[in-house]
Amino acid sequence: MQLDYWLEKWKTGDTKFHMADVNEFLVQHYENLAPSTFFVPLCGKTLDMLWLATRGHKVVGVELSQIACDAFFSENKLSYEIKAVDGFILYFNESIQIWCGDIFQLPEHAYKDVNFIYDRAALFALPLDLRLQYVEKLKSIAAQSKKLQMLLLSIEYQQNLVQGPPFSLSNHDINNYYHDVFEIKQQSMPCGYISFLKQNPKFSEVDVIDSVYLLDCKS
Ligand code: SAH
Repeated sequence: MQLDYWLEKWKTGDTKFHMADVNEFLVQHYENLAPSTFFVPLCGKTLDMLWLATRGHKVVGVELSQIACDAFFSENKLSYEIKAVDGFILYFNESIQIWCGDIFQLPEHAYKDVNFIYDRAALFALPLDLRLQYVEKLKSIAAQSKKLQMLLLSIEYQQNLVQGPPFSLSNHDINNYYHDVFEIKQQSMPCGYISFLKQNPKFSEVDVIDSVYLLDCKS
């Protein structure tokens, strides 16, 4: 999948993945957490970053599209500055940084203070070849942080029925990708939970299972 695919989505406003509300699983898991530095890969303009920042957390996002980065700060009426750093445009204020560019080029110093990764629609946004590169990138972040945790949201459906993205991920996939570096604990889902994907017409006839995992770095 080319980077142009995503840039075009933002250009044409085809961003069904963007949620109008803060993610309920993020709220559930991190409501009373001590201030931390969150890494939000493939962040889009998610309000989850704002929710974290208003609770005293630092946020480091990375997003390809400048439209998304501009929209995040302007739609939320946040002041910010921008500067060029290592081939990225860095958008920043006192609590939020968004590195605008390709995650695979993100320099190490961008995530040096990170101790949480929040992955919503990042792993499952990527096709297999990029997903494997992405997993390696996250493991390299985990390698330079003590006690890193990750909240990972995932979806599973019969991949032959619908073309991704979003792509289907099984428990087995998650385990396969991360078990060498993380302890993986699958979290229970609220009774009767209906997947966010059901709002997307292409999934109306497809069974979708959402899963939430909490991962603890073994080192
Ligand atoms: N996590 C966000 C957005 C998910 S959609 C949310 O929950 O709303 C995936 C996002 O990843 C898109 O905004 C896309 O522009 C961005 N993206 C895709 N490939 C990328 C890459 N290689 N580097 C950085 N961002 C990328």
